[in-house]
Amino acid sequence: MTNDLLIRNVRPLGGVLTDLLIRDGRFAEGSGQKGARQIDAAGQIALPGLVEAHTHLDKTLIGMGWYRNEVGPTRNDRILADRKAKRELGIDARRQSARQIMQTLPFGVTHIRSHVDVDTEIGIANVNGLVATRAAFAGLVDVQIVAFPQSGLLVRDGTLALMEEALKAGADIVGGIDPATIDRDPVRHLDAIFALADRYGKPVDIHLHEPGELGAFCLELIVERARALSLQGRVMISHAYCLGMLDGKRQAALIDALAAERIAIMTVGSPSAPALPLKLLREAGVIVASGSDGIQGTWEPWGRGDMLERAKFLAQRNGMTGDSDLEATADICTFGGAAGIGLSDYGLAPGCHGDLVLAAAETLAEAVALIPQSRTVIRGGRFLVRDGVLSEDLPHVE
Ligand SMILES: [Zn+2]
Repeated sequence: MTNDLLIRNVRPLGGVLTDLLIRDGRFAEGSGQKGARQIDAAGQIALPGLVEAHTHLDKTLIGMGWYRNEVGPTRNDRILADRKAKRELGIDARRQSARQIMQTLPFGVTHIRSHVDVDTEIGIANVNGLVATRAAFAGLVDVQIVAFPQSGLLVRDGTLALMEEALKAGADIVGGIDPATIDRDPVRHLDAIFALADRYGKPVDIHLHEPGELGAFCLELIVERARALSLQGRVMISHAYCLGMLDGKRQAALIDALAAERIAIMTVGSPSAPALPLKLLREAGVIVASGSDGIQGTWEPWGRGDMLERAKFLAQRNGMTGDSDLEATADICTFGGAAGIGLSDYGLAPGCHGDLVLAAAETLAEAVALIPQSRTVIRGGRFLVRDGVLSEDLPHVE
Protein backbone atom coordinates (compact mmCIF):
# COMPACT_ATOMS: atom_id res chain seq x y z
CA MET A 1 0.00 0.00 0.00
CA THR A 2 1.38 3.42 -0.91
CA ASN A 3 -0.04 6.91 -0.70
CA ASP A 4 2.19 8.17 -3.52
CA LEU A 5 0.51 10.09 -6.32
CA LEU A 6 2.33 10.42 -9.64
CA ILE A 7 1.16 13.17 -11.99
CA ARG A 8 2.48 12.33 -15.42
CA ASN A 9 2.93 14.55 -18.49
CA VAL A 10 2.68 17.85 -16.68
CA ARG A 11 4.37 21.23 -17.29
CA PRO A 12 5.38 22.74 -13.93
CA LEU A 13 4.90 26.52 -14.26
CA GLY A 14 4.54 26.02 -17.99
CA GLY A 15 8.02 24.45 -18.38
CA VAL A 16 9.00 21.24 -20.15
CA LEU A 17 6.91 18.09 -19.84
CA THR A 18 7.78 15.98 -16.84
CA ASP A 19 6.24 13.96 -14.00
CA LEU A 20 5.54 15.22 -10.47
CA LEU A 21 5.46 12.89 -7.48
CA ILE A 22 3.61 13.62 -4.24
CA ARG A 23 4.66 11.43 -1.31
CA ASP A 24 3.33 11.80 2.24
CA GLY A 25 1.74 15.11 1.32
CA ARG A 26 4.82 16.71 -0.23
CA PHE A 27 6.54 16.83 -3.59
CA ALA A 28 9.32 14.28 -3.80
CA GLU A 29 12.02 13.12 -6.22
CA GLY A 30 11.53 9.97 -8.23
CA SER A 31 8.64 8.26 -9.95
CA GLY A 32 6.90 6.61 -7.03
CA GLN A 33 6.61 3.12 -5.67
CA LYS A 34 5.17 0.24 -7.61
CA GLY A 35 1.41 0.41 -7.61
CA ALA A 36 1.35 4.16 -6.89
CA ARG A 37 -1.74 6.07 -8.03
CA GLN A 38 -1.13 7.86 -11.31
CA ILE A 39 -2.90 10.42 -13.41
CA ASP A 40 -2.07 11.62 -16.89
CA ALA A 41 -2.14 15.43 -16.93
CA ALA A 42 -2.06 15.34 -20.76
CA GLY A 43 0.34 18.27 -21.00
CA GLN A 44 -1.53 20.65 -18.68
CA ILE A 45 0.46 23.20 -16.74
CA ALA A 46 0.83 22.92 -12.98
CA LEU A 47 0.77 25.87 -10.63
CA PRO A 48 1.07 25.71 -6.87
CA GLY A 49 -2.26 26.39 -5.10
CA LEU A 50 -3.39 29.94 -5.95
CA VAL A 51 -3.10 32.54 -3.20
CA GLU A 52 -5.95 34.94 -2.46
CA ALA A 53 -4.02 37.47 -0.38
CA HIS A 54 -6.86 39.92 0.22
CA THR A 55 -10.57 39.31 0.36
CA HIS A 56 -13.54 39.83 2.72
CA LEU A 57 -15.06 36.38 3.23
CA ASP A 58 -17.45 37.62 5.91
CA LYS A 59 -19.25 40.07 3.63
CA THR A 60 -19.89 38.31 0.36
CA LEU A 61 -23.55 37.99 -0.63
CA ILE A 62 -23.05 34.83 -2.72
CA GLY A 63 -26.28 32.85 -2.75
CA MET A 64 -28.33 35.57 -1.03
CA GLY A 65 -30.09 36.93 -4.08
CA TRP A 66 -29.21 40.03 -6.02
CA TYR A 67 -28.38 43.08 -3.91
CA ARG A 68 -29.65 46.28 -5.48
CA ASN A 69 -26.68 48.61 -5.15
CA GLU A 70 -27.75 52.23 -4.63
CA VAL A 71 -24.76 53.10 -2.52
CA GLY A 72 -23.26 56.61 -2.78
CA PRO A 73 -19.83 57.26 -4.20
CA THR A 74 -17.70 58.00 -1.14
CA ARG A 75 -15.88 55.52 1.08
CA ASN A 76 -18.03 56.64 3.99
CA ASP A 77 -21.24 55.99 1.98
CA ARG A 78 -20.00 52.49 1.37
CA ILE A 79 -19.03 51.85 4.98
CA LEU A 80 -22.51 52.98 6.09
CA ALA A 81 -24.21 50.80 3.46
CA ASP A 82 -22.04 47.90 4.52
CA ARG A 83 -23.10 48.19 8.18
CA LYS A 84 -26.75 48.63 7.20
CA ALA A 85 -26.64 45.50 5.04
CA LYS A 86 -25.16 43.52 7.90
CA ARG A 87 -28.06 44.62 10.12
CA GLU A 88 -30.84 44.19 7.60
CA LEU A 89 -29.83 41.25 5.40
CA GLY A 90 -28.63 38.96 8.16
CA ILE A 91 -25.27 38.19 6.55
CA ASP A 92 -24.01 35.10 8.38
CA ALA A 93 -20.21 35.28 8.28
CA ARG A 94 -19.75 31.56 8.86
CA ARG A 95 -22.11 30.54 6.05
CA GLN A 96 -21.02 33.22 3.60
CA SER A 97 -17.30 32.58 4.07
CA ALA A 98 -17.86 28.88 3.38
CA ARG A 99 -19.81 29.75 0.24
CA GLN A 100 -16.99 31.89 -1.13
CA ILE A 101 -14.38 29.25 -0.33
CA MET A 102 -16.41 26.63 -2.20
CA GLN A 103 -16.90 29.03 -5.13
CA THR A 104 -13.17 29.65 -5.48
CA LEU A 105 -11.85 26.17 -4.72
CA PRO A 106 -12.51 24.89 -8.28
CA PHE A 107 -10.26 27.72 -9.51
CA GLY A 108 -7.47 26.30 -7.35
CA VAL A 109 -7.55 28.90 -4.58
CA THR A 110 -6.25 26.99 -1.56
CA HIS A 111 -4.76 29.82 0.54
CA ILE A 112 -6.85 32.81 1.59
CA ARG A 113 -6.18 35.85 3.74
CA SER A 114 -9.48 37.45 4.71
CA HIS A 115 -10.03 40.75 6.42
CA VAL A 116 -12.95 40.32 8.83
CA ASP A 117 -14.95 43.21 10.23
CA VAL A 118 -14.70 44.10 13.90
CA ASP A 119 -16.88 46.97 15.02
CA THR A 120 -19.04 48.17 17.88
CA GLU A 121 -22.28 46.96 16.25
CA ILE A 122 -21.33 43.36 15.51
CA GLY A 123 -18.45 43.01 17.97
CA ILE A 124 -16.38 39.96 17.04
CA ALA A 125 -19.28 37.88 15.70
CA ASN A 126 -17.78 37.77 12.19
CA VAL A 127 -14.38 36.70 13.54
CA ASN A 128 -16.11 33.88 15.43
CA GLY A 129 -17.87 32.87 12.20
CA LEU A 130 -14.59 32.79 10.32
CA VAL A 131 -12.90 30.77 13.06
CA ALA A 132 -15.62 28.12 12.58
CA THR A 133 -15.16 28.14 8.81
CA ARG A 134 -11.38 27.94 9.14
CA ALA A 135 -11.78 24.82 11.29
CA ALA A 136 -14.27 23.25 8.86
CA PHE A 137 -11.80 23.62 5.96
CA ALA A 138 -8.61 22.77 7.89
CA GLY A 139 -6.21 20.83 5.69
CA LEU A 140 -8.21 21.71 2.56
CA VAL A 141 -8.14 25.49 2.26
CA ASP A 142 -5.97 27.59 4.57
CA VAL A 143 -7.70 30.68 5.93
CA GLN A 144 -5.92 33.57 7.65
CA ILE A 145 -8.11 35.96 9.62
CA VAL A 146 -7.29 39.67 9.81
CA ALA A 147 -9.13 41.55 12.58
CA PHE A 148 -10.26 44.54 10.53
CA PRO A 149 -11.60 47.82 11.97
CA GLN A 150 -13.61 48.68 8.82
CA SER A 151 -15.52 51.52 10.47
CA GLY A 152 -12.48 53.07 12.12
CA LEU A 153 -10.47 52.29 15.21
CA LEU A 154 -10.33 55.46 17.30
CA VAL A 155 -13.45 57.24 16.02
CA ARG A 156 -15.64 54.48 17.42
CA ASP A 157 -14.98 54.02 21.09
CA GLY A 158 -14.51 50.42 22.11
CA THR A 159 -13.18 49.14 18.78
CA LEU A 160 -9.60 48.76 19.99
CA ALA A 161 -10.74 46.54 22.88
CA LEU A 162 -12.76 44.46 20.40
CA MET A 163 -9.67 44.09 18.18
CA GLU A 164 -7.86 42.60 21.16
CA GLU A 165 -10.81 40.30 21.83
CA ALA A 166 -10.69 39.22 18.18
CA LEU A 167 -7.04 38.19 18.55
CA LYS A 168 -7.89 36.20 21.67
CA ALA A 169 -10.73 34.53 19.75
CA GLY A 170 -8.38 33.34 17.00
CA ALA A 171 -7.67 36.18 14.57
CA ASP A 172 -4.17 35.78 13.11
CA ILE A 173 -3.33 39.30 11.99
CA VAL A 174 -3.93 42.88 13.15
CA GLY A 175 -5.66 45.03 10.52
CA GLY A 176 -5.87 48.76 10.09
CA ILE A 177 -7.45 51.24 7.70
CA ASP A 178 -6.74 54.70 6.34
CA PRO A 179 -5.28 56.11 9.55
CA ALA A 180 -5.45 59.75 8.39
CA THR A 181 -8.81 59.98 6.63
CA ILE A 182 -10.95 57.67 8.77
CA ASP A 183 -9.49 58.12 12.25
CA ARG A 184 -7.93 61.49 11.34
CA ASP A 185 -5.04 60.65 13.63
CA PRO A 186 -2.52 58.49 11.79
CA VAL A 187 0.11 58.38 14.53
CA ARG A 188 -2.29 57.21 17.21
CA HIS A 189 -4.02 54.75 14.87
CA LEU A 190 -0.77 53.14 13.79
CA ASP A 191 0.74 53.19 17.28
CA ALA A 192 -2.35 51.38 18.55
CA ILE A 193 -2.36 48.60 15.95
CA PHE A 194 1.41 48.07 16.01
CA ALA A 195 1.34 47.92 19.84
CA LEU A 196 -1.37 45.26 19.60
CA ALA A 197 0.64 43.31 17.02
CA ASP A 198 3.74 43.53 19.21
CA ARG A 199 1.91 42.41 22.34
CA TYR A 200 0.35 39.38 20.65
CA GLY A 201 3.24 38.56 18.30
CA LYS A 202 1.04 39.00 15.21
CA PRO A 203 1.66 40.35 11.70
CA VAL A 204 0.00 43.57 10.46
CA ASP A 205 -2.03 44.21 7.29
CA ILE A 206 -3.28 47.74 6.63
CA HIS A 207 -5.78 48.98 4.04
CA LEU A 208 -4.19 52.18 2.75
CA HIS A 209 -6.31 53.92 0.11
CA GLU A 210 -5.05 57.37 0.99
CA PRO A 211 -3.84 59.25 -2.06
CA GLY A 212 -0.63 61.00 -3.02
CA GLU A 213 1.46 62.69 -0.39
CA LEU A 214 -1.01 61.89 2.41
CA GLY A 215 -0.73 58.18 1.63
CA ALA A 216 3.06 58.51 1.35
CA PHE A 217 3.19 60.12 4.80
CA CYS A 218 1.18 57.25 6.32
CA LEU A 219 3.29 54.72 4.44
CA GLU A 220 6.40 56.23 6.01
CA LEU A 221 4.82 55.99 9.44
CA ILE A 222 4.17 52.29 8.78
CA VAL A 223 7.77 51.76 7.65
CA GLU A 224 9.09 53.44 10.82
CA ARG A 225 7.00 51.20 13.04
CA ALA A 226 7.88 48.01 11.17
CA ARG A 227 11.55 48.92 11.60
CA ALA A 228 11.25 49.83 15.29
CA LEU A 229 9.51 46.55 16.13
CA SER A 230 11.66 44.38 13.80
CA LEU A 231 8.59 43.21 11.88
CA GLN A 232 10.47 42.59 8.64
CA GLY A 233 8.46 40.17 6.48
CA ARG A 234 5.38 40.51 8.70
CA VAL A 235 3.75 43.69 7.42
CA MET A 236 1.55 44.06 4.35
CA ILE A 237 0.09 47.25 2.95
CA SER A 238 -3.06 46.63 0.94
CA HIS A 239 -3.82 48.86 -2.07
CA ALA A 240 -1.17 51.55 -1.40
CA TYR A 241 -2.61 53.70 -4.21
CA CYS A 242 -0.21 56.49 -3.28
CA LEU A 243 2.65 54.52 -4.86
CA GLY A 244 1.04 55.02 -8.24
CA MET A 245 0.48 58.77 -7.74
CA LEU A 246 3.90 60.21 -6.91
CA ASP A 247 6.77 61.55 -8.98
CA GLY A 248 9.62 59.18 -9.80
CA LYS A 249 12.05 60.28 -7.13
CA ARG A 250 9.54 60.21 -4.28
CA GLN A 251 8.15 56.89 -5.52
CA ALA A 252 11.63 55.34 -5.69
CA ALA A 253 12.48 56.41 -2.13
CA LEU A 254 9.31 54.80 -0.80
CA ILE A 255 9.90 51.63 -2.77
CA ASP A 256 13.44 51.37 -1.32
CA ALA A 257 12.05 51.86 2.19
CA LEU A 258 9.49 49.08 1.63
CA ALA A 259 12.18 46.74 0.32
CA ALA A 260 14.47 47.48 3.28
CA GLU A 261 11.80 46.48 5.81
CA ARG A 262 10.47 43.65 3.63
CA ILE A 263 6.98 45.15 3.69
CA ALA A 264 4.71 43.46 1.13
CA ILE A 265 2.29 45.31 -1.12
CA MET A 266 -1.10 43.89 -2.11
CA THR A 267 -2.79 45.24 -5.20
CA VAL A 268 -5.98 44.10 -6.91
CA GLY A 269 -5.30 46.01 -10.13
CA SER A 270 -8.65 47.77 -9.89
CA PRO A 271 -9.66 49.56 -13.10
CA SER A 272 -10.93 52.53 -11.07
CA ALA A 273 -7.82 53.10 -8.94
CA PRO A 274 -4.26 54.21 -9.74
CA ALA A 275 -2.08 51.43 -11.17
CA LEU A 276 0.89 50.48 -9.03
CA PRO A 277 4.42 50.37 -10.49
CA LEU A 278 4.53 46.57 -10.46
CA LYS A 279 7.79 46.24 -12.33
CA LEU A 280 9.64 48.80 -10.23
CA LEU A 281 8.37 47.23 -7.02
CA ARG A 282 9.44 43.75 -8.02
CA GLU A 283 12.78 44.86 -9.42
CA ALA A 284 13.50 46.56 -6.09
CA GLY A 285 12.75 43.29 -4.29
CA VAL A 286 9.41 44.30 -2.82
CA ILE A 287 7.04 41.35 -2.40
CA VAL A 288 3.89 41.98 -4.42
CA ALA A 289 0.76 39.95 -3.73
CA SER A 290 -2.76 40.21 -5.12
CA GLY A 291 -6.34 39.52 -4.15
CA SER A 292 -9.93 39.88 -5.24
CA ASP A 293 -10.98 42.21 -2.40
CA GLY A 294 -14.72 41.89 -1.70
CA ILE A 295 -16.58 39.79 -4.24
CA GLN A 296 -20.33 40.02 -4.85
CA GLY A 297 -21.02 42.30 -1.92
CA THR A 298 -22.31 45.78 -1.13
CA TRP A 299 -19.01 47.40 -2.09
CA GLU A 300 -18.80 45.91 -5.54
CA PRO A 301 -21.39 43.77 -7.33
CA TRP A 302 -18.90 41.64 -9.27
CA GLY A 303 -15.97 39.36 -8.72
CA ARG A 304 -15.55 35.61 -9.01
CA GLY A 305 -12.43 35.13 -6.91
CA ASP A 306 -10.39 33.36 -9.59
CA MET A 307 -6.77 34.30 -8.92
CA LEU A 308 -5.70 33.23 -12.40
CA GLU A 309 -8.19 35.72 -13.80
CA ARG A 310 -6.80 38.25 -11.31
CA ALA A 311 -3.38 37.76 -12.93
CA LYS A 312 -5.01 38.77 -16.22
CA PHE A 313 -6.62 41.85 -14.64
CA LEU A 314 -3.26 42.92 -13.21
CA ALA A 315 -1.66 42.60 -16.62
CA GLN A 316 -4.48 44.53 -18.30
CA ARG A 317 -4.40 47.31 -15.71
CA ASN A 318 -0.68 47.72 -16.20
CA GLY A 319 -0.63 47.52 -19.99
CA MET A 320 1.33 44.27 -19.85
CA THR A 321 0.96 41.94 -22.83
CA GLY A 322 4.29 40.10 -23.29
CA ASP A 323 4.76 36.54 -22.10
CA SER A 324 7.26 37.48 -19.40
CA ASP A 325 4.81 40.13 -18.16
CA LEU A 326 2.02 37.57 -17.87
CA GLU A 327 4.41 35.19 -16.13
CA ALA A 328 5.12 37.99 -13.66
CA THR A 329 1.44 38.52 -12.85
CA ALA A 330 0.97 34.75 -12.45
CA ASP A 331 3.91 34.85 -10.06
CA ILE A 332 2.21 37.62 -8.06
CA CYS A 333 -0.91 35.45 -7.67
CA THR A 334 1.09 32.43 -6.50
CA PHE A 335 4.60 32.93 -5.10
CA GLY A 336 4.13 36.64 -4.40
CA GLY A 337 0.98 35.95 -2.42
CA ALA A 338 2.63 33.09 -0.58
CA ALA A 339 5.56 35.27 0.47
CA GLY A 340 3.26 38.17 1.29
CA ILE A 341 1.06 36.19 3.67
CA GLY A 342 3.94 34.19 5.12
CA LEU A 343 3.43 30.67 3.76
CA SER A 344 6.29 28.21 4.11
CA ASP A 345 7.37 25.33 1.84
CA TYR A 346 5.25 26.73 -0.98
CA GLY A 347 5.92 25.74 -4.60
CA LEU A 348 6.39 22.70 -6.80
CA ALA A 349 9.93 21.78 -5.77
CA PRO A 350 10.77 18.60 -3.82
CA GLY A 351 10.01 19.14 -0.14
CA CYS A 352 7.23 21.68 -0.75
CA HIS A 353 3.64 20.93 0.24
CA GLY A 354 2.02 18.79 -2.46
CA ASP A 355 -0.58 21.38 -3.45
CA LEU A 356 -1.17 22.13 -7.09
CA VAL A 357 -3.61 23.22 -9.76
CA LEU A 358 -3.68 21.74 -13.23
CA ALA A 359 -4.88 23.99 -16.03
CA ALA A 360 -5.22 23.27 -19.74
CA ALA A 361 -2.60 25.54 -21.29
CA GLU A 362 0.82 25.14 -22.86
CA THR A 363 2.43 27.99 -21.00
CA LEU A 364 1.81 30.27 -18.04
CA ALA A 365 1.19 33.20 -20.34
CA GLU A 366 -1.48 31.27 -22.23
CA ALA A 367 -3.15 30.35 -18.93
CA VAL A 368 -3.21 34.01 -17.82
CA ALA A 369 -4.50 35.18 -21.17
CA LEU A 370 -7.19 32.54 -21.73
CA ILE A 371 -8.14 31.47 -18.17
CA PRO A 372 -8.77 27.78 -18.80
CA GLN A 373 -11.63 26.26 -16.81
CA SER A 374 -12.22 22.65 -15.70
CA ARG A 375 -9.12 22.70 -13.52
CA THR A 376 -7.94 19.94 -11.23
CA VAL A 377 -6.94 20.83 -7.67
CA ILE A 378 -4.81 18.49 -5.57
CA ARG A 379 -3.87 19.07 -1.95
CA GLY A 380 -1.33 16.82 -0.27
CA GLY A 381 -2.02 14.12 -2.84
CA ARG A 382 -5.80 14.29 -2.37
CA PHE A 383 -8.09 15.39 -5.21
CA LEU A 384 -10.28 18.31 -4.10
CA VAL A 385 -11.45 19.11 -7.62
CA ARG A 386 -11.19 16.93 -10.69
CA ASP A 387 -11.68 18.51 -14.12
CA GLY A 388 -13.75 21.26 -12.51
CA VAL A 389 -15.93 18.96 -10.39
CA LEU A 390 -15.72 19.31 -6.60
CA SER A 391 -15.00 16.15 -4.66
CA GLU A 392 -18.01 14.78 -2.78
CA ASP A 393 -16.22 14.46 0.54
CA LEU A 394 -15.73 18.21 1.08
CA PRO A 395 -17.47 20.03 3.94
CA HIS A 396 -21.19 20.53 3.47
CA VAL A 397 -22.06 24.16 2.74
CA GLU A 398 -25.57 25.55 3.24
ZN1 LIG B 1 -10.25 45.12 1.35
